[in-house]
Amino acid sequence: MTLPPPTSHQDWQALAARLTPDGRPFIGGRRMEAHNERRFDIVNPADGRTVASPPRCGAVEIGAAVAAARAAADGGVWSDLPATRRADILRALARAIETHGTELALLDTLQMGLPVSLAMDDIGLAARKLREAAAGAERLQGAVLPGAPSSLALNLRVPQGVVGAITPWNFPLFVALGKIGPALATGNTVVLKPSELAPLACLRLADLAQEAGLPPGVLNVVPGLGAEAGQALASHRDVDMLSFTGSTATGRLLMHASADTNLKALHLELGGKSPQVVLDDCGDLDALAQALADGFMFNGGQLCVAGSRLIIARELAAELTHRVAEKTARWRLGHPLDPATTLGPLASAAQCARVQRFIDRAEAAGLAAHRSPCGGGAGMPAPVVFADVPPDAEIAQEEVFGPVAAATPFDSDDEAVRLANGTRYGLVATVWCSDPARGLAVARRIRAGAVTVNARTGHAPARTVDASLEPFGESGFGAEGGLAGLWAYTRARHLLLNLPG
Ligand code: NDP
Repeated sequence: MTLPPPTSHQDWQALAARLTPDGRPFIGGRRMEAHNERRFDIVNPADGRTVASPPRCGAVEIGAAVAAARAAADGGVWSDLPATRRADILRALARAIETHGTELALLDTLQMGLPVSLAMDDIGLAARKLREAAAGAERLQGAVLPGAPSSLALNLRVPQGVVGAITPWNFPLFVALGKIGPALATGNTVVLKPSELAPLACLRLADLAQEAGLPPGVLNVVPGLGAEAGQALASHRDVDMLSFTGSTATGRLLMHASADTNLKALHLELGGKSPQVVLDDCGDLDALAQALADGFMFNGGQLCVAGSRLIIARELAAELTHRVAEKTARWRLGHPLDPATTLGPLASAAQCARVQRFIDRAEAAGLAAHRSPCGGGAGMPAPVVFADVPPDAEIAQEEVFGPVAAATPFDSDDEAVRLANGTRYGLVATVWCSDPARGLAVARRIRAGAVTVNARTGHAPARTVDASLEPFGESGFGAEGGLAGLWAYTRARHLLLNLPG
C-alpha cells in the first residue's frame, strides 16, 4: 500500500480496517505455506483484537530458509556483486521503505502499540540507517601489506556467510533493519526470526526487498516462537553468525546454542539499566527535569537505551526527583492510532503485568514513589519515579522495560562514577553538567558503549552518522553502527599471491 500518512485518528482506524497482513514466511524469494497448520495470534495491545495469525514456523521452515540463504551465499549471487551494485539495491529498498512507510508504520503500531506518529519517525530513521550501511560498505577497504616484490599480500574483509538474526518487539522494523542493513551491505545472506509479537512489518520488508532487486534467498524471514523457530536458527549448523537483540537471559541461551553446535560467531545487544548522572552544576533544573523524564519515557520505557537510573547530586535529588515525575506528563497517553498520542499501551498484557510487578515490589520494599500526573491507562501503568533508591535495590538493578525510573543521590564525582558502573550492564549513559571538562572526566570513566554529555541518548547513535556502539558487561558484545558495525558482519582474510619471478 503506497499511501500518504492519514492525519486523523479516524482515518488511521479506517486504513487499519482495510489492511490484510500476510503472515506467511518469506523463503527463497517468495511467500511459502508452512508445513503444518499450527498458528499463533498477534494481538493488538490497544484493543485485544487479533491482527493476524501467522503460521507457527519451526525447524522445518528454518531449515528451508537456511538452505536458501546457504545456496545464495555459496553461489555468490550477492557477495560477488560489486559493493556499489549491492549498495544501489539497498538504496532502492530504502526508497521502497519510505514509499510504503504508512503501511509499515501501521503494522508496527497494530502489533505492539507503538504510537503511529513515533512509528512513522522510526520508518524514516530505518531507511536512513539502511542508506548509511550501504554507503559505509562502499567505502570498506582492505590493505596491501609490505612483503617481497615477488608477491602480493592482501588483507581483506569478507562476508561471514549466512547470518541468522533474532529481533525483539520494541521497535520491530527499525531493530531488524539495524541488522539486515549491515549484514546485506557487506555481502552476507540473512535469515531473520522476528519477535512473535511483531513479525508482520519484517515480512512485508522481505516483499519490498525482492521488488527492489535482492536476489532470491538473500533475505528470508520466518515467523514463529523463540523456543521453536528461534532455537532452531540458533542451533543450525549452517548459520555462520547469529546477531541478536533482546534480553540478557535469551542471549545466554544463544551462547550455549552456539557452543553446543558449530561455534557460530555471535553479536549480542542485550539488556541495559542505563544511568543518567546529574552533577551539582547542572544548570536550569526545569529543562533538565524534562530531559531526564524523556530519557526513560520514550516508547513507554520499552527502549534498550532507556536512562532509567537517575544518579543525582544529593543537594538536587529531592527537588529534581519530584520535578521529573511531573515532567512525565508531557507524554500524552492515548490510542496509538491517534497521531497526537505519544504514549500508547505497553506491547502486551504480559509486559504490562511484568512492569506492574516491578512497581509493586519496589513499593512493598518501602520505596517512596512519585507518580506521574498523567496517570496510567489501559495497558499502561502510571509512570513512576522512585526516590532515594539504595543502589542494590531490584528497581535500580534490573531492566524493567516500562515507564519507571529509580533515583539515587550521591556526594562526590567518584561516587557518581561508582554508582553509574554499579550494575551488570553497560549499554549507554548520560552525564548532565555545566562544566564540559568535568562532564568529560566523568563520562570517560563510565563503562558503556555510548556516553553522551548534555544530550539525551534516546535514539543516538541512530541520529548520528557513523557512530558505533559496543556494549560492556552483560549488555552484550559486537559493535553496532558506523564502520565498526559493518566490520562486525565480516571476517578478516589474508590473501597472498606469489608471483613467478
Ligand atoms: P526475549 O529476549 O525473550 O526475546 C527477543 C527475541 O528472542 C524474540 O524474537 C524471541 O522470540 C527470541 N527468543 C526467545 N527465546 C528464545 C530462544 N530460546 N532461542 C532463540 N530465540 C529466542 O525478550 P522479550 O521479547 O521476551 O522481552 C523480555 C525482556 O527483555 C524485556 O522486558 C526487556 O527487559 C528485555 N528486552 C531488551 C531489549 C533490548 O533492546 N535490549 C529488547 C527486547 C527485550 P519470541 O518473541 O517468540 O519470544
